[in-house]
Amino acid sequence: MRVAIDGPAGAGKSTVSKAIAAKLGYIYIDTGAMYRTVGYSALKKGIDIKNRHDLMSQLMDNISIDMKITPCGQLMFLDGEDVTSSIRTEAVGMAASDAAVIGEVREKLVRLQREFAEGKNVVMDGRDIGTHVLPDAECKIYLTASVLARGKRRYDELCARGEDCSLENICRDIEVRDENDSSRSISPLRRAEDAVLLDTTDLTLEQSVAAAEKIINEKLKEI
Ligand code: C5P
Repeated sequence: MRVAIDGPAGAGKSTVSKAIAAKLGYIYIDTGAMYRTVGYSALKKGIDIKNRHDLMSQLMDNISIDMKITPCGQLMFLDGEDVTSSIRTEAVGMAASDAAVIGEVREKLVRLQREFAEGKNVVMDGRDIGTHVLPDAECKIYLTASVLARGKRRYDELCARGEDCSLENICRDIEVRDENDSSRSISPLRRAEDAVLLDTTDLTLEQSVAAAEKIINEKLKEI
């Protein structure tokens, strides 16, 4: 059984996916972390991601990205270095979104994602899982919420981590990322025709998890 959860930034995909995977005993794969790892590497190397797709293509030929699923969650490794926490900044999120429009970046990461999912029960979240990475996934959910609701959640998360941030800037970044993700020519963010829409704007986290669980249980009954 493969569960594909897609949707825009901050819709609660990772929290819902993690909770669902734990309940079902499935492996959770956060594909955004892989794009973030590429973005982080490009930032570290000082590559102008938007304008130097040639350098990004070279980077993809040489980069080593690895992922380990542990009881404490998914760890990301870049050329052997654990970058799990370093990739969780807004700047890296934006760099990931810029890198995600590049064909060579997507090709390599999609290949890795399919390899990781091969023969396993997985909950995989991202932007193109139901439409491209696992088009024949048994269950697909498109999770979304208003920009303001998503911005507030991100704001609370960052404040809890002690990061200096403003709700206005976060909402603006979310809008830029939404635009980037849904307007790119390769695998743009969109709801797969057979994905169930789950709008979490007015739902708490617990309610969102319960709603996703209900959708998955319905699907399990069908197969
Ligand atoms: O999910 P997260 O916000 O960590 O993802 C960072 C960025 O990676 C997204 O804004 C998106 O541009 C890109 N991404 C993607 N396809 C995926 C997962 C993430 O393009 N499957």
